[in-house]
Amino acid sequence: MSILITGGAGYIGSHTCVELLNAGKDLVILDDFSNSNKEVLDNIKKITNKDFKFYEMNYLDKDKLEKIFEENKIDSVINFAGFKAVGESTEKPIEYYINNVSGALNLLDVMKKHNVKKFVFSSSATVYGNPEIIPITEDCKVGGTTNPYGTSKLFIEKILEDLYASDNTWDIAILRYFNPVGAHESGLIGENPKGIPNNLMPFIAKVATKELKELSIFGDDYDTKDGTGVRDYIHVVDLAKGHLLALDKLDKEKSGLYIYNLGTGHGYSVLEMVKTYSQVNGVDIPYKIVNRRPGDIAQCYSNPDKANKELGFKATKSLEDMCRDSYNFIKNK
Ligand code: UDP
Repeated sequence: MSILITGGAGYIGSHTCVELLNAGKDLVILDDFSNSNKEVLDNIKKITNKDFKFYEMNYLDKDKLEKIFEENKIDSVINFAGFKAVGESTEKPIEYYINNVSGALNLLDVMKKHNVKKFVFSSSATVYGNPEIIPITEDCKVGGTTNPYGTSKLFIEKILEDLYASDNTWDIAILRYFNPVGAHESGLIGENPKGIPNNLMPFIAKVATKELKELSIFGDDYDTKDGTGVRDYIHVVDLAKGHLLALDKLDKEKSGLYIYNLGTGHGYSVLEMVKTYSQVNGVDIPYKIVNRRPGDIAQCYSNPDKANKELGFKATKSLEDMCRDSYNFIKNK
């Protein structure tokens, strides 16, 4: 039996593939390389010394999806595929909704046809909008998303709830990621966005390598410890391991709809990130303070107790590990 991984060459997908292969799982990976490349697959093989089946395709292509289910014995699916740039999503809402929502629907429809009902979905803390309480628990209100990317995640969560309500033999885990950062310690896979990064850590990384001149810090007048935004940064390898635990849970329970926050439970400010990155790697990170970024919230961090209690999930890597592994990956690019 194999696990189908959509978007397996992407940032979080590739790290999860490594953990799954190391745990002895059989994988079928699909990716259209829209935000990744073939080299990632070679590096997954290098790290794990294991092989897998790969299809270069977009999950909007239903005929090809059908073929995957006909040619392989798939018993579960982890859906990483999707566009994820917040800013771009406000300029291209139709493209984002088609790719993320229709892609997920295609997948679920083909799964249903083949009676495959185990599904892990990559969601995001962005579904909480401006959170009503901090730290955020899974029963906090969702909604009030401020961009089509976040709304596409919210729509898919709702679709999964409706699907489970219609047929409670489905076995679904929704994982709400906080801020994944860092890279595999081998330095072979990591995050290397095309163009100018939107997210903080990849931006800092490009300042560290002098590809970009300086970081703009979006506001220092928030009601936080030092005035800059606070987020729950989680090492991508910790996050990847959370997927294994979620799959174990689905195997154990046979059916259900489970929602988990995957974060560390700690909030770090932008200035703390800059300072740690600079200290750990011995690099300069010049920055300037600019206006707040529209749509940003002051702070967002998780209460990870539910995932800890029900999955045995606990992030073990420190902020220093995240900064060191990020630089170790990017400096060889
Ligand atoms: N941030 C910043 N400069 C940047 C990118 C991000 O000051 O170039 C800040 C942003 O305002 C937020 C934090 O860093 O407080 C994390 O931003 P990111 O986009 O990585 O994650 P998100 O806001 O989606 O949680």
